[in-house]
Amino acid sequence: MNRFVYTANPSRIVFGPDSIDQLPAEIERLGARRALVLCTPGQRDQAQAIADRLPGRIALIFDEAVMHVPVETARKARALASELKADCALAIGGGSTIGLGKAIALEAGLPIIAVPTTYAGSEVTPIYGITEAGLKKTGRDPRVLPRVVVYDPKLTLSLPMDLTVTSAINAMAHAAEGLYAHDGNPVISLMAEEGIRACAASLQPLRDNPRDLPARSLALYGAWLCGTVLGAVSMGLHHKLCHTLGGTFDLPHAQVHTVVLPHALRYNADAAPEAMARIAKALGVADAPTGIFELARTHGAPVSLRAIGMPADGLEQAAELAAANQYPNPRPLERVALRALLDHALEGAPPTP
Ligand code: NAD
Repeated sequence: MNRFVYTANPSRIVFGPDSIDQLPAEIERLGARRALVLCTPGQRDQAQAIADRLPGRIALIFDEAVMHVPVETARKARALASELKADCALAIGGGSTIGLGKAIALEAGLPIIAVPTTYAGSEVTPIYGITEAGLKKTGRDPRVLPRVVVYDPKLTLSLPMDLTVTSAINAMAHAAEGLYAHDGNPVISLMAEEGIRACAASLQPLRDNPRDLPARSLALYGAWLCGTVLGAVSMGLHHKLCHTLGGTFDLPHAQVHTVVLPHALRYNADAAPEAMARIAKALGVADAPTGIFELARTHGAPVSLRAIGMPADGLEQAAELAAANQYPNPRPLERVALRALLDHALEGAPPTP
């Protein structure tokens, strides 16, 4: 076995159907009294229903969370938190809402209680992102790691099926890259393999019935494991490409991960055979990149960058940006090969060897 360093992020996880009932006790446990509730406009009703169960403990419901955490929104939420003397942020939603909580925690130091409703995984990472003047700045800071995560699969029953599939594949991407991370370790690899297995196994039952609670639980359990991998080890080419494509061309987060993952895995396959074998095993297939591609296609997710709004004339710039800064990845970053990867992804061609 290779040498490794394993650092666990200190999260408290409360998991299971109706675990939302534990919120009052969890707020109490933190020593908090007045929560600033965060959500998107579309999840206002869901946040209100949760807030209604916390009489006397809510400072305000701030329903302006949007993708990529604009600095103006973060400032507004921070000012409200301070004005209303909120002593914790209760983030109810996906990565965008939890990201807003992190932006508040970074400067105001408020502890975050996260109630995730997608599979993005942000709730168990110390990674934050804030967008200012069109540029998304990301970083790691232990202050933004939510102190408590309440995973209630019932809150994910309403997640639309298209986002269910792409968000689950977004989660699998964290685990897949964790399996070949230069700073990986055996514990995180166990979580990664199990996370991929759980997320993948949930999709067929959810396609049959999006309100299948055991399948929703399985997906959320997988998302927790995959998010834990993202929070613990470094990501490689796939995440770098998605960050570039999402940021520069404003492509939707979970969808861009879904399209790029099979191609990023093919790019790295020969340089990371052990990781590929573990991903394939978790998916129950012979070839990891093809397995992810077929999973997306079978469940109706987009498989081409063109279908999610990528302009063909942006590929050269994307390849340049992805190759510009070398960073740890199983296979070195070669501009010409990256351009070929992006050409394949643009058209949705299968990731053939
Ligand atoms: P999202 O949070 O933007 O949610 C997408 C849409 O789905 C929103 O309109 C939201 O209100 C809606 N939604 C969420 N859950 C729902 C539910 N249960 N029922 C009905 N509607 C629901 O999407 P996301 O993919 O979860 O997060 C993407 C963002 O998170 C990106 O900005 C990404 O960079 C960030 N992210 C950060 C990290 C990190 O570690 N910092 C990790 C993953 C993602």
